[in-house]
Amino acid sequence: MTQLCNQHGGVNLAQGFPDFPVPRELKEAAKRAIDEDFNQYSITWGAPALRRAIAEKARTFNRIACDADANVTVTCGSTEAMMAALLAIINPGDEVVILEPFYENYGPDVIVSGAKPVYVQLREPDFTFDPAELRRAFGPRTKAIIVNTPHNPTGRVFIAEELDQIASLCDEFDCYCLTDEIYEHIVYDGREHISIASLPGMAERTVTISGLSKTFSVTGWRVAYAIAPEPVTSAIRKMHDFLTVGAPHPLQIAGAAALALGESYYQGLRRDYERRREVLLEALRAAGFDCREPEGAYYVMTGIQKFGFSDDTAFAQWLVREVGVAAVPGSSFYKKGTSGRHQIRFTFCKTEETLGEAGKRLQHLQERLRGRKS
Ligand code: PLP
Repeated sequence: MTQLCNQHGGVNLAQGFPDFPVPRELKEAAKRAIDEDFNQYSITWGAPALRRAIAEKARTFNRIACDADANVTVTCGSTEAMMAALLAIINPGDEVVILEPFYENYGPDVIVSGAKPVYVQLREPDFTFDPAELRRAFGPRTKAIIVNTPHNPTGRVFIAEELDQIASLCDEFDCYCLTDEIYEHIVYDGREHISIASLPGMAERTVTISGLSKTFSVTGWRVAYAIAPEPVTSAIRKMHDFLTVGAPHPLQIAGAAALALGESYYQGLRRDYERRREVLLEALRAAGFDCREPEGAYYVMTGIQKFGFSDDTAFAQWLVREVGVAAVPGSSFYKKGTSGRHQIRFTFCKTEETLGEAGKRLQHLQERLRGRKS
């Protein structure tokens, strides 16, 4: 969609990368780290200063017992953390439960690791799972479940009751929980992000994945981490070594400086995203979309049934060509060729200016639709 968007001079509300600058402190810290010659390989599993900062943040923000030497592996993005974690725990014949819709990588990640994905639907309109259906997905071959909260693409922030249900299944079936919490600081309307590893007994069976990309608007830095029990960490570190050797050293050092920013940084982040969420929701609703307000992360998943297209891809392509706004077809977030054809996903990790321009273009949606029919 990004390529098509560029071809048509569209406003890119498809791919989830911010178009606003990185906090100045982080730029300075990265430049300083290069000047101070942190330019060679770091320790494979992460520069000590960053691991110490991650462990401290895990203890205070996520409420997970975490030791920098025993539990933390720094990776090239949470994308690598998920892959390394799966490669670390999967044996041939294992199954991994994935809640659907899901961030596009999880399905391929599970297959590449040699396991079989087992999908469980998050049901509209609230994108909640049916506990009985989730239970039926677990069995003797289940090795893990992948959880993502706050959730891409639906904007769900899972509540304690839902996480308790998942935790008790992990306990009953003796399996791992791989939790992707990359949007942990982007929650709205006073909601609380809960890390499943903080629930009783879960730290021993959870790999908690997060990183700098979304919290500090540095998706190009490729610095993230996995927090896991010691034996799992040992296996993750081996996989990480074979995959990438190490994350960029100067950016790890700058990452430690990022994690030292105070609470006001996170308040500002949430406030800015809350405002951007309002701008996009208003524009989409004015154009005729029925939107569910996201509880966290920076995406809006909307229905497109009433616009008269055969599927989501046809609509997304038409939208960028005729209206000049790019979104992602909803089916990208489901296993191939199944659901999501009635949805598309917009992102609002963009300046208010960019979102305003998208809003202006979307005002022409109904008129273009009428033109298409006549
Ligand atoms: N996990 C989720 C749920 C995402 O939405 C994204 C990016 O969109 C990522 C992971 C990628 O994170 P990273 O840049 O740390 O690889």
